[in-house]
Amino acid sequence: MLASPPCFLDRWLWRRGILDPASPARVNRRLLWGMAVFHLLAALACIPWLFTWSGLVCAVVAYYLFGVLGINVGYHRLLTHRGFSCPRWLEHTLAVLGFCCRQGTPMSWVAIHRQHHQHSDEPNDPHSPRHNLFWGHMGWFLINDPAVFNIGLYDRYARDLFQDRFYKWMERPHVGRNIEWTVWTAFLVLGTLFGWLITWSAIGAVQVGLSWLVWGVFVRTVVHLHATWAVNSITHRWGYRNFDTQDDSRNHWFVALVSNGEGWHNNHHAEPRCAAHGRRWWELDVSYLIIRGLECIGLVWDVVKPRRRQPAGQPEGPPDSQAGERAAA
Ligand SMILES: [Zn+2]
Ligand SMILES: [Zn+2]
Repeated sequence: MLASPPCFLDRWLWRRGILDPASPARVNRRLLWGMAVFHLLAALACIPWLFTWSGLVCAVVAYYLFGVLGINVGYHRLLTHRGFSCPRWLEHTLAVLGFCCRQGTPMSWVAIHRQHHQHSDEPNDPHSPRHNLFWGHMGWFLINDPAVFNIGLYDRYARDLFQDRFYKWMERPHVGRNIEWTVWTAFLVLGTLFGWLITWSAIGAVQVGLSWLVWGVFVRTVVHLHATWAVNSITHRWGYRNFDTQDDSRNHWFVALVSNGEGWHNNHHAEPRCAAHGRRWWELDVSYLIIRGLECIGLVWDVVKPRRRQPAGQPEGPPDSQAGERAAA
């Protein structure tokens, strides 16, 4: 199949030697413009009329529901690393929540992330910032490389999900579109109803409805996208290390704060299957606290706890950083 004609971003990546012009890898224009439009829609939050306090609360609640539960707990610690076990209905619910964050299907996310752990900061790492910080952050996400994104990737890195009919069903484009439209509509309709109840006016209802849509969907999604991408870019460049892993992974307090624990990335690379990413007492990991909470009420079990001792200020010896990944894959 012929490669699509290059766009400005393709040429920029070629000039910096990040992509090879001879390869069929090209920027996925649909994804690029879709992402640009999504950011512009999030920028609507700058319009004062679209700000409401209930919209802000909606964004925070949605950030934890879709981003932290869906991506951090569901996509990452459960589906990718099998850091705990839970009922199948809960696993699928978390997967749907994660899908509402515009980070791709569960199967693609898991396959790419397992490849990242196997080849961290090596040539086959899908998003190492060694090439370029923009590439490690979001450039890689915008590329369609037939040599990478194919059935072989799923077969190699996500065979467990590939054998599950639910995740195959989620690969269908119309399923994703329907889920996304349902969520958008739910925020708009519920916000409009709430606005009507508190203002008893049509204009007030529309204002609150649009506010919930802009803050609860667009702003929340964009902030969480960059929080997740910052784990790939910033925490493979800056921060401190508790463990002497063979990659560039670091712990970064700010990324950990906005990503609710994912930014303790060096700890995570040292022990990928471990459900806890914070290892020192002050390394707050909200995602792990949620997993422990679910464990307390019996919805989660077999939580993988740290095997290595608490870091004591000095980097530890050579880690077995891929052991957990091999077990998970
Ligand atoms: Zn990493
Ligand atoms: Zn991971």
